[in-house]
Amino acid sequence: MIPTLVFYSQFDSFEEWQALLAPLLPGVRICQAEDVDDPDSVLYVLAWKPPHGFFAPYRQLQLLVNLGAGVDSLVGRDDLPKVPITRVSDPDMGRMMAGYVLFAVLRYARDIPAFERAQRQRRWHYLHPRLPSSVRVGVLGLGELGAYTALELARQGFDVRGWSRSAKQLDGVNCVNGMEQLDGFLASSDILVVMLPLTAQTEGLLSAERLALLPAGSCFINVSRGAVVDQQALTAALANGQISEATLDVFDREPLPPQDPLWAMDNVLITPHLASVAIPATGAAQVAENILRLGRGETVLHQVDPVRGY
Ligand code: NDP
Repeated sequence: MIPTLVFYSQFDSFEEWQALLAPLLPGVRICQAEDVDDPDSVLYVLAWKPPHGFFAPYRQLQLLVNLGAGVDSLVGRDDLPKVPITRVSDPDMGRMMAGYVLFAVLRYARDIPAFERAQRQRRWHYLHPRLPSSVRVGVLGLGELGAYTALELARQGFDVRGWSRSAKQLDGVNCVNGMEQLDGFLASSDILVVMLPLTAQTEGLLSAERLALLPAGSCFINVSRGAVVDQQALTAALANGQISEATLDVFDREPLPPQDPLWAMDNVLITPHLASVAIPATGAAQVAENILRLGRGETVLHQVDPVRGY
């Protein structure tokens, strides 16, 4: 029996992942579900949003790898196999995410939206630049992507604060943790960056009441999951200026429906959920490393806790 890795994704190229994984995993067959001859040979699955019942034939499964960093759509399923679950999240994915957030933060810190509006009116609109150290940037979530991003923001000289569940230490980042710190954290974020996973605890966390705690005229960036935020309340806050600008990569419904009021707001920048993606060239090494670790009887890295939800 040849150990088999089954790949599933409607967004990622099987051929690309196969070409990268094959040399790293000699002796492992890499194929798609329709090409499996013997389901009992399937020891590993690398998948993004596989259909319900996908795992059922693979009774010898040893490892399930989520082809992406966000596992909310996976851990809530009722057909999860009882095997270790890991996720793809590598430094290149962190760099891509940090690049997106840096762009959005710098755009606000340098008042670029005001210049974009002035240009449309052929208006010379001088606003004196602020020092980055005078801009308080709050990063909610200091995980693999969040911590990388917070450190990059600190490197740019911003006054960076971070919030997580457990205590953290990051150079140049003022870290706090726990629910009791959240309200004060929001109240001192001129630019808020949401980088939390979607879990039972974080769903709806940024309610109308919590959004109202942000300083008047603050900026809002969400690159995590739409459902962490009350989108209606966010829209209202953007309409009345309580939140002055938003960069939104994620929404409570995706694709964002054409009739949604956010599309028409000139203080909102919308991107279609692509702040960061799994990068095959580096992600493949991480997937292969975990499969090799299993073979050596070692614990796998980047393991997800389905009960915790991330
Ligand atoms: P991680 O799972 O590595 O880290 C999650 C962070 O959030 C941790 O710091 C964790 O705290 C914190 N956290 C979780 N729950 C709570 C809570 N209840 N209260 C306070 N803090 C909490 O995630 P990543 O950094 O890798 O990614 C973050 C999210 O980004 C992903 O879950 C995904 O949804 C999203 N994403 C979006 C993409 C896009 O293109 N828009 C691409 C990839 C990911 P602690 O450290 O204490 O555990």
